[in-house]
Amino acid sequence: MDLQLTIRKRVTAEGIGLHSGQPSKITLSPAPADSGIVFRATDPHRTLIPARRDAVVDSRFATTLGVNGTRVRTVEHLMAAAAALGIDNLLVEVEGEEIPAMDGSAEPFVSLLYAAGKATLVAPRRPLVITWPIRVGDDGRWLQILPSEDFRVSYTLDVDHPAVGTQAASFTCTEQVFVEQVAPARTYGFLKDVGALRNNGLARGGSLENTVVVGRRAVLNTRLRYRDEFVRHKILDLIGDLALLGRPVVGHVVARNAGHALNHQLVNAIAEAFIPEARSNRATVRALSHPVDRLEGVRREPLPGIAAL
Ligand SMILES: [Zn+2]
Repeated sequence: MDLQLTIRKRVTAEGIGLHSGQPSKITLSPAPADSGIVFRATDPHRTLIPARRDAVVDSRFATTLGVNGTRVRTVEHLMAAAAALGIDNLLVEVEGEEIPAMDGSAEPFVSLLYAAGKATLVAPRRPLVITWPIRVGDDGRWLQILPSEDFRVSYTLDVDHPAVGTQAASFTCTEQVFVEQVAPARTYGFLKDVGALRNNGLARGGSLENTVVVGRRAVLNTRLRYRDEFVRHKILDLIGDLALLGRPVVGHVVARNAGHALNHQLVNAIAEAFIPEARSNRATVRALSHPVDRLEGVRREPLPGIAAL
């Protein structure tokens, strides 16, 4: 039987937030079985924000979680690293309002979790096995999950820009594959969008140090980590968002030009189809969340390129 994992010791990392541009620090500590991944803010109430789908308050350009107005922004790269390494339970104290961008990829979080070490808990892991197909989205941008023996992601990214173009990648996402093929892929964004993003309080910490910046014709960074780094980063984000289910998924995700808002739609559809408790809680969850924000997020989903920022 597969057992749940947490980490062995406390570890910290600091940097600046990709969107806020503000300094932030995270401290990761071991957490008991069945607690899941929980963020703790440094507000006077020390608000606990569970990394669960019902805590998603914003999905424009990043995944933001919140409880009672206290928020933690850009959780997806850390979530992807934890999920891929099989870390089920973790307490993440956040000084600041955003997880630090580090180098824009999940690699620094992988290193941090390895430095903390894994600890086994005496409680079974409960994989979420997909037994029939589910699809969300429309003709141009969609996500589908199909039954499969492993957790697999096949992604097509289609961006009308000479430096990106059409990229397709498919991985069986074991820990090793994630660490070697997915985690190092960095956030990307288009130079032409930077002004508008910053005016909206986004991308203020973005730089060539933590973002692959696409200029008018070419990438401005000295080099890419992979020829198809863009689609690999989309896979990274998707893995991070799926982790909000709180259980390892056994299924094959097939994606085209998705983004955080669509990822969350799939997460909700999976929960409603395969987690019986989710169905009975559905009305409550809807009432507690911000239905207007969420619907707007879905309708105004940004273009695939910027969605990765
Ligand atoms: Zn990302």
